[in-house]
Amino acid sequence: MATHVLFPGTFDPPTLGHLDLVTRAAQHFARVTVGLAGNPSKQALFTAEERLTLLRDCTASLANVSVALVPGLAVEACATLGCQAILRGLRSATDYDYEVQMAHTNRVLAPDVDTLFLPASAGVAHLSSTLVRQIASLGGDCSKLVPPNVNAALRGRFGKPPPRRKES
Ligand code: ADP
Repeated sequence: MATHVLFPGTFDPPTLGHLDLVTRAAQHFARVTVGLAGNPSKQALFTAEERLTLLRDCTASLANVSVALVPGLAVEACATLGCQAILRGLRSATDYDYEVQMAHTNRVLAPDVDTLFLPASAGVAHLSSTLVRQIASLGGDCSKLVPPNVNAALRGRFGKPPPRRKES
């Protein structure tokens, strides 16, 4: 039985979609470890240390959730951390195609480690870290897209959104 799952990702930055998934997973599994993956193909906005702090802060109220750096393969991290399964979120058919391919590949690498999927909640299924980075970099307000600590970090990086001018 899977009691401890690994939720790996880039989390650059963590969004309300990620947080929703972790919160729901924490109700189904005894332990959830959020694994901050090193993804060499992606140019990161926040450093790994910054993302670890952001993830720890926004999951602090979830007693059975911890955060760890997962520099190598997710299946290797499962063996090291004692996770029986990998957890991933599904937002769309596009996610599905990529995620199923990765799940099959991970089972070839480690037949004992299965991948479990949770569908994104309707209210956050549109959220992605890529969109958040784009909006924040253009001075947009991300307060409805990310947890408050992440919003503060984005403002620290890009500055406050300009006040809206009233149309006369
Ligand atoms: P990766 O680069 O590994 O896909 P991400 O940080 O983009 O890392 O995503 C990590 C996981 O979180 C993935 O399983 C992804 O499907 C899931 N995820 C991302 N955004 C959302 C969301 N809005 N709702 C639910 N799950 C999400």
